[in-house]
Amino acid sequence: MARYRGPVCRLCRREATKLFLKGERCHTEKCAIEKRNFVPGQHGKDRKAKIVGYGLQLREKQKVRRIYGVLESQFRITFEKAVKMKGITGENLLGTLERRMDNVIYRMGLATSRAQARQIVRHGHIQVNGRKMNIPSFIVKPGDEISVRETSKNNAAILASRDATAHAPAPSWMDVDRENLKGRINSTPRRDELTQVPINEQLIVELYSK
Ligand code: SF4
Repeated sequence: MARYRGPVCRLCRREATKLFLKGERCHTEKCAIEKRNFVPGQHGKDRKAKIVGYGLQLREKQKVRRIYGVLESQFRITFEKAVKMKGITGENLLGTLERRMDNVIYRMGLATSRAQARQIVRHGHIQVNGRKMNIPSFIVKPGDEISVRETSKNNAAILASRDATAHAPAPSWMDVDRENLKGRINSTPRRDELTQVPINEQLIVELYSK
């Protein structure tokens, strides 16, 4: 599946908020939002357009897409599935994105960013219920056991990420055994734990319902 390969800090600057796309750097003064919090581009400093209506809805959708590293077509497919699920569409959408394999590895603290988590999954270091799983968009469900494969338990990048994220608690919807590099999904994600960034998912529902 394709992914965005361009510079990521400009995505945060475009949304005028930290999207935490670069791991540890996002928590330092090197963060571009700390240094240059204006829209990227030649006239970014001068332009202060007031965003209303469609613009607000569009920005909210782009923000969520960028947080989870999903391209437009896949995001749209996820939305269509969320519409068909029971419950509130916006929460279904965020809940489904949150249960993506790459996001789960990030939440378990085995990667410092979702991009790194994606690479860890793609490189075949992860298994689900004892079987190798290298698809970042795979959606986990309650009861699934996720672990680092035996052959990858000494992987330096995974161990370094685990140590770097030791201070960050895992969300309540998963039980994580960091020592043994494994975890279990115990329920569906709770809305109040979904992202570090404020999101109004109703704007996305309105955008796609037009
Ligand atoms: Fe870059 Fe992270 Fe700061 Fe975003 S939050 S601008 S990705 S360093």
